[in-house]
Amino acid sequence: MTFKDLSITPPILKALHAEGYEKPTPIQRQAIPIVLRGKDLLACAQTGTGKTAAFSVPILQHLYLKKENSRGPRRIKALVITPTRELAIQIGESVAAYGRHTGLKHTVIFGGVKQGRQTQALDRGVDILIATPGRLLDLMSQGFITLEHIEYFVLDEADRMLDMGFIHDIRKVIAKLPRQRQSLFFSATMPPKIIDLSRKILGQPEKVVI
Ligand code: AMP
Repeated sequence: MTFKDLSITPPILKALHAEGYEKPTPIQRQAIPIVLRGKDLLACAQTGTGKTAAFSVPILQHLYLKKENSRGPRRIKALVITPTRELAIQIGESVAAYGRHTGLKHTVIFGGVKQGRQTQALDRGVDILIATPGRLLDLMSQGFITLEHIEYFVLDEADRMLDMGFIHDIRKVIAKLPRQRQSLFFSATMPPKIIDLSRKILGQPEKVVI
């Protein structure tokens, strides 16, 4: 099984090969076809399994293929929420690497630093936003970000988010998302609280356990 067998489009295949990825990992093999079919996903997977590519490759592919028929201003169409600045930066680097031949733009926002550079990047226009919850809500309340055009929503490391006390922030973000969207939910563990949260976010998800 190769990435080509998963129907990955040439510009993304080229980038994956440049990264030295020869074969998809188990989570990628299972999750990518589900996401490409437009289904919601509930994935139980740890960091280190290749989960970042499992969600970002099919989202990049959808956005890249749609981009050819779309005009007008660049809008945030995919939102990834993750608990920490380090994870946000890592995901941003992966999205940059996998999407380097797609012409899609992304940016990363997180707290603990001045917001000026982040708002400038947002003003220039992005397709994909990677964010920690607090800074996201902050910039939304100041009017720098609207979620009304989101088509893809990813909640990364859901169990860690709850442990870090982000549940209220996550609820506030979910309330602002369009109902019509595709949602992907990742957690290393699936205790009852996480299952509850996943039910609030996902429609009829397909499940993947690694
Ligand atoms: P992640 O779980 O997304 O943090 O990925 C863990 C590590 O695996 C990262 O260093 C990735 O660059 C690497 N990786 C992800 N997918 C593949 C793949 N298909 N082949 C080789 N390395 C990969």
